Amino acid sequence: MIPYGRQDIIQADIDAIVDVLRSDFLTQGPQVPLFEQKLADYCGAKHAVAVNSATSALHLACLALGLGPDDWLWTSPITFVASANCGLYCGARVDFVDINPRTYNLCPRALEQKLIVAEREGRLPKIVVPVHLCGEPCDMRAIYALAQRFGFKIIEDASHAVGGKYRGEPIGNCRYSDVTVFSFHPVKIITTAEGGTAMTNDDALAERMALLRSHGITRDPACINREPDGPWYYEQIDLGFNYRMTELQAALGISQMDRLDNYVARRHELACRYDALLAGLPVTTPWRHVDNYSGLHLYVIRLQLPGGARTHRNVFESLREQGIGVNLHYIPVHIQPYYQAMGFRAGDFPEAERYYAEAISLPMYPGLSDVQLQSVAKALGSAVLT
Ligand SMILES: *Cc1c(COP(=O)(O)O)cnc(C)c1O
Repeated sequence: MIPYGRQDIIQADIDAIVDVLRSDFLTQGPQVPLFEQKLADYCGAKHAVAVNSATSALHLACLALGLGPDDWLWTSPITFVASANCGLYCGARVDFVDINPRTYNLCPRALEQKLIVAEREGRLPKIVVPVHLCGEPCDMRAIYALAQRFGFKIIEDASHAVGGKYRGEPIGNCRYSDVTVFSFHPVKIITTAEGGTAMTNDDALAERMALLRSHGITRDPACINREPDGPWYYEQIDLGFNYRMTELQAALGISQMDRLDNYVARRHELACRYDALLAGLPVTTPWRHVDNYSGLHLYVIRLQLPGGARTHRNVFESLREQGIGVNLHYIPVHIQPYYQAMGFRAGDFPEAERYYAEAISLPMYPGLSDVQLQSVAKALGSAVLT
């Protein structure tokens, strides 16, 4: 089976991890700050706060931005559930903004319409989470302009987009957001096995996320309330979590970052090959904005099947039977039973639901060979045409 995504691990990665295993620190040593510095430099952001997953980073970002009960968080229905769940963790309510049918990202015009209504009804969101689906950047200028007008905060869920650029600048520089989150899960662009980070240019947000990632405990003389009882002294000044990244993970991340640009370049080569090979088939290939540089975490096609024999499900099953490990990103979050129980219904976000009825993620990862890619295209051809 050709998987839809797969990590790339080389000897340098293994050596980096073994070096840490032989060192004094498996956690809370020098590797995590080094990884954070490398990420911040790469993106041109002031701070990176490394944590044990993007889900944790989203949670900390919401908390640091003060999200709580009675607040609203809005995101796209076409995303991994974590982009929405982070709001629920804080006791806030979650709502969605339908996608643009070409970019598959949260639609700025739909966002504006929904904000106008929400303003009238006194339920404006505190946070909006645009998701750079497949690595293609959202229209951040438009979303940022709406944030200025309506007064919400922005967390970019860039789990698919590390190594990408928005209008010539690195995703993660937070020019149009308060916080940007990356994921380093093995299917993503670079990996730390599990892991994630929150990027920000705001000193106070960075400090707060770092505090909450480790139990809300500090030894910083500037933060503690009482005279130290002795050299062992620390204080818990907030209710935090254990969301720390290990030294092993950070060392892997540092090593992987050396190949980040090559990985994304290879993804672009593969995408161009797919675009050419699929041109004659009844499918819509991914749209990419000429001024942006997608991270290309995923290559999602939409089937344009003529009415009749073949269904989306038939094509998907046929590809799996032919050894192609296709997947579907994502089931709209508002369709999930947990969200339906909160009152969402099928039909609430029609563009997202149309997308879900047609989308298939084809294999896309740097180790995918040209021969394998051709076999995917051939299998797709036979799945849609026979
Ligand atoms: C993978 C992913 C996450 C969660 O990442 P973890 O590191 O697994 O917690 C969140 N949002 C999106 C869009 C993702 O693809």
